[in-house]
Amino acid sequence: MSTTTPQKIKVATIWIDGCSGCHMSFLDIDERLIDLVQHIDLLYSPLVDMKEIPAELDLTLVEGAVSNEHDLERVVALRKASKFMIALGDCAVTGNVPSMRNPIGLKPCFDRAYQEMADIVVNDPADGDPGIPALLEMAKPVHEVVTVDLFVQGCPPPADAIFYVLSELIAGRVPDPTLLTRFGA
Ligand code: SF4
Repeated sequence: MSTTTPQKIKVATIWIDGCSGCHMSFLDIDERLIDLVQHIDLLYSPLVDMKEIPAELDLTLVEGAVSNEHDLERVVALRKASKFMIALGDCAVTGNVPSMRNPIGLKPCFDRAYQEMADIVVNDPADGDPGIPALLEMAKPVHEVVTVDLFVQGCPPPADAIFYVLSELIAGRVPDPTLLTRFGA
């Protein structure tokens, strides 16, 4: 996936407030990944080592809801860099599991997590802990913070659906993921 050719589509994937299940489903494409890499350069992703968001991308797939300031910063940067953005999976499409905290509010969530459930492990800044990005008041689906071009529902979307979507985009067609997906499955 490291050889760049002018014909290849420059792709990024990002995993924000999600469980990694959507990326696991992407990997479940299995041997068909070999077909995809004939057409795709995966430049930025949890699956590769690149740390900086590339300046120009053709396509970005976003897994997860936008829940903290770091999520927001990266989604906005990827949107600026990408010609086409896909919300991949129910957390990105609707907020899904991460948004369950929304009706509760931040303070009760913090009280539960950091007081009632507190442990005795204290991170030492001297260990290089960069700190935790501040949570947004609400966990949001991706389209509430940037424009999304295509929604691929499912928790996670099936590997066949992800392969279909990518294959159609490679062929220059706009896919209809609803043929192969449904919310919650
Ligand atoms: S949509 Fe489902 S599989 Fe994907 S990140 Fe959310 S909880 Fe995980």
